[in-house]
Amino acid sequence: MPRTLDPDLRRAVAARIRYYNDMGIYDFYQRPVSVQQQEASVAVEETTVEEVQAASGEEMSPRKAATVAASRVEEKTLGAIAAKPEQSVLDPVKALKIIREDLGDCTRCPLHKQGRKQIVFGVGDPNAELLFVGEGPGADEDEKGEPFVGRSGQLLTNMIKAMGLSREQVYIANIVKCRPPANRAPEREESETCSPFLMRQIAAIKPKVVVALGATAAKNLLAMSAPMTELRGRFYEFRPAGVSSNDPNWDGCKLAVTYHPAFLLRDPRQKGEAWKDLQMVMKELGLKAPKTAT
Ligand code: URA
Repeated sequence: MPRTLDPDLRRAVAARIRYYNDMGIYDFYQRPVSVQQQEASVAVEETTVEEVQAASGEEMSPRKAATVAASRVEEKTLGAIAAKPEQSVLDPVKALKIIREDLGDCTRCPLHKQGRKQIVFGVGDPNAELLFVGEGPGADEDEKGEPFVGRSGQLLTNMIKAMGLSREQVYIANIVKCRPPANRAPEREESETCSPFLMRQIAAIKPKVVVALGATAAKNLLAMSAPMTELRGRFYEFRPAGVSSNDPNWDGCKLAVTYHPAFLLRDPRQKGEAWKDLQMVMKELGLKAPKTAT
């Protein structure tokens, strides 16, 4: 029987696999282990490049097959070791509470000792159909313990209102839950350590649409790096890491990318483009813009 591992070990395994991938190592094989070791270890099946190529039925370059094989190993590894105490809890209020308790007074990444005042978990309707993801808390958010309450937050609130919704009707969270010093972008280790909690929040809420605000959110959620102009203007199929494709309760959702409100404050000419993104989301959700008083 595969044993569940504690979240720290799970994160360490995931980070190690990514580290190997970065060095160009894509194939992983499980060393034969003794019965005792087996009992105390996580079951990770081998996935070879040949298996991927044979199973895909498509012409795949060895490199692509190696990448797919590596990601399957990672998926299996993470799937086998992901201990999610809220897994069978369908009530999103209860599930979010469990995730918050699991997060605790988090000291898992360096941000906890870089001046954060408090953890900014996320806010909004646990049953929201629409979920926004930003980058990380700024000074105002760190002070208040709530995401998007500063200047960017005011603009986001107005964007939400323009969609005919209120802040209370959506859910708002960030890639990292602690303020990076001097409002710098979160570092990779910080994002990778924190985003599993965000993934669990998304899986608990089961929204219809996630909107990634800015390149940092998009890059982390989609695990791809591309300019904003390429990322915007379309929907992506999104299933948070750890949610199985056979999950009877949720089939994943759509993800759209738009500009971060802080960027729109710096370059208001792009607001029209952001509005196009939000209109695409509104159409998906069957929302109509409210009539404005003339
Ligand atoms: N910017 C973000 O990305 N998130 C916040 O919560 C505030 C500002």
